[in-house]
Amino acid sequence: MSFKENTDIVFEHYEKKIYDQKQLLEISRALNSTLDYKYLIDAILNICLAQLQTLHAAMYLEPEIDLGLFKLEPQSIKGFELSPEEQNYEIKIDSPLIHYFEEKPKAITMDQILQMEVLNQIPDIVYLRKMGAEILVPLNAKGKVNGLLVLGDKMTSEEFLEDEKEFMTTLANLAGIAVDNARLYELATVDMMTGLKIHHYFQTKLKEEMERCRKKGTKLSLLFTDVDKFKTFNDTYGHQAGDVVLIEVAKQLIQKAQRHHIPARYGGEEFCLVMPGASEEEAIAKGEEIRKAVEEMVVKNPNDDSDLKVTLSVGVSSFRPTDRNNKDLIERADKALYQAKHSGRNRTICYKD
Ligand code: GH3
Ligand code: MG
Ligand code: MG
Repeated sequence: MSFKENTDIVFEHYEKKIYDQKQLLEISRALNSTLDYKYLIDAILNICLAQLQTLHAAMYLEPEIDLGLFKLEPQSIKGFELSPEEQNYEIKIDSPLIHYFEEKPKAITMDQILQMEVLNQIPDIVYLRKMGAEILVPLNAKGKVNGLLVLGDKMTSEEFLEDEKEFMTTLANLAGIAVDNARLYELATVDMMTGLKIHHYFQTKLKEEMERCRKKGTKLSLLFTDVDKFKTFNDTYGHQAGDVVLIEVAKQLIQKAQRHHIPARYGGEEFCLVMPGASEEEAIAKGEEIRKAVEEMVVKNPNDDSDLKVTLSVGVSSFRPTDRNNKDLIERADKALYQAKHSGRNRTICYKD
């Protein structure tokens, strides 16, 4: 090989390294710019699909709200064909695979794993092989494995190169920290009992959304819900039964909310839904949808297994350019809710002047 050919190869190698570093910087910026857990997971998987030219990628992470369950559960699976049972497969934190990654936090191919006697027969590997995994990459944060990225074969059926494995290891390091941050944020902003966002988060987001309306001239509506005669309910069935009912009401709100909506716990048994982009009519329709779902709901009494039922009143208000702050919009939703209560409960009322 001539001197020139040799230096060309060296240059090409370094150019590729610089390109990869630039990509990683961009990716790092993207991953650090969001604390939205689900969006983040999606972004990480999409980057993997594009970078490694594969059609199959899956992410296993600790449960969003850790209840002392030491496991990684599937968060998103793209392209792998799995039976419903396989889709729920969980990897225990004390699995030999996780222990291995704790010692060696690097991307590894299935071929390499199959040569290791300590790993090649364990249920996690049997499952991952059956699924079609070709490369496994641990996510870690604070010196602990907090996730696993699983990728399938390349579209070209070529082997994964050392450079690509190195790239994936670095990407997973960035992703591990981003996921950990998003998870902590989620824990700090979600009400543990209901899974709804907490009051302070609601106020902050509402303010942001109102500012967006002002700047862009978009719509925004707000729903306030309050369980009917809930004091009597608690007195009759007990506070514990009341809690179970509130959890189920919250589930209805979360289920009926769209991805960009913000379901929150305003306080006690009063919940709310911020609906960016929604007109008054759309908000009334959503309020009715939630109200009817709660009306049809039957909850089992935790004390004696009997059937429990509640109803919900809903107040609706929509953004007006004359609104000075959150308080104006909230006050109108609250007034509408008051009217719903005083005109018989179990109904949705929209604020009218
Ligand atoms: P109204 O139809 O007018 O809303 O009647 P109400 O009895 O529901 O009146 P109000 O909204 O003032 O009462 C709220 C009750 O909700 C009182 C409180 O004990 C109960 N509550 C608030 N938070 C919780 C909770 O976390 N768990 C349970 N079990 N009850 C709660
Ligand atoms: Mg109330
Ligand atoms: Mg009430």
